[in-house]
Amino acid sequence: MANNEESRGLKSLLDWFANRRKSGTISLERQEREIADGLWHKCSKCGVLAYTKDLKANQMVCVECGHHNRVDSDERIRQLIDQNTWRPMDEHLRPTDPLQFRDRKPYSDRLREMQEKIGLIDAVKTGLGQINGLPVALGVMDFRFMGGSMGSVVGEKLTRMIEQATQGRYPVIIVCTSGGARMQEGMLSLMQMAKISAALQRHRDAKLLYIPILTHPTTGGVTASFAMLGDIILAEPKATIGFAGRRVIEQTIREKLPEEFQTAEDLLKHGFVDEIVPRTQLKNTLAQLIALHQPVPTAPHMVLWESMSLSSTVAE
Ligand SMILES: [Zn+2]
Repeated sequence: MANNEESRGLKSLLDWFANRRKSGTISLERQEREIADGLWHKCSKCGVLAYTKDLKANQMVCVECGHHNRVDSDERIRQLIDQNTWRPMDEHLRPTDPLQFRDRKPYSDRLREMQEKIGLIDAVKTGLGQINGLPVALGVMDFRFMGGSMGSVVGEKLTRMIEQATQGRYPVIIVCTSGGARMQEGMLSLMQMAKISAALQRHRDAKLLYIPILTHPTTGGVTASFAMLGDIILAEPKATIGFAGRRVIEQTIREKLPEEFQTAEDLLKHGFVDEIVPRTQLKNTLAQLIALHQPVPTAPHMVLWESMSLSSTVAE
């Protein structure tokens, strides 16, 4: 009898395990399918599964560990710019292949493939819009398009945007993310650094505000030019920011670099970055900075008082 009970108990325990394994497998398959469908998102840092809708509501920042998932240019514009105020600029500008460059495949083919796959013409979006009611010129780089590399179109679009901002007296904000210069455009790509920097200098001469936001990763020629020319330089938590890659530096100086090297936190410590702002606070922080930088309006009663005292002087 005891044996019977024991075997029944064992059987039910085995059933329980079998059922659990079965349901586990099903849910795992289902999980994977739903991740592939984009319903769920698995955090690349902590592995926690989150409903994509919830993650988007939290601006693609993991609620569990605070990891800042990469966002594309459209999503970034949605996060920063007030609804129905975005006016894109120079959307027609297309890259060409002036050097007839070819690596594993021709640059022109690579461009066409990228454009078809991602639905962008090149790696930056520019435009005018409002942040909490304050007008700004905003440029947003997109890492999906050839690693956000800076070719002639990126340079030209940013330059035109900065020039228009200088003319209209708008603050400039550029969300940076880039692997650096676009090697397929050779020297033409490097020239964009000088072109954008010159436009920024004229913007600065007009006493206007420029805020670059360094997001993961900001490297190469972008770091070496407009990413570091801000009046106030902001960065997202844990973003990799640097010029040459870690491996290249380690091989050159034959030394192991510290773990935190080229992180936003390390750059803040050494004064290259002014503040690290979590993405969920970015819009309000920008609005505050822009509002603080605006010229103090002359109070109407002061003007009135001045004209009254003047008129009374004249009357005497
Ligand atoms: Zn996480």
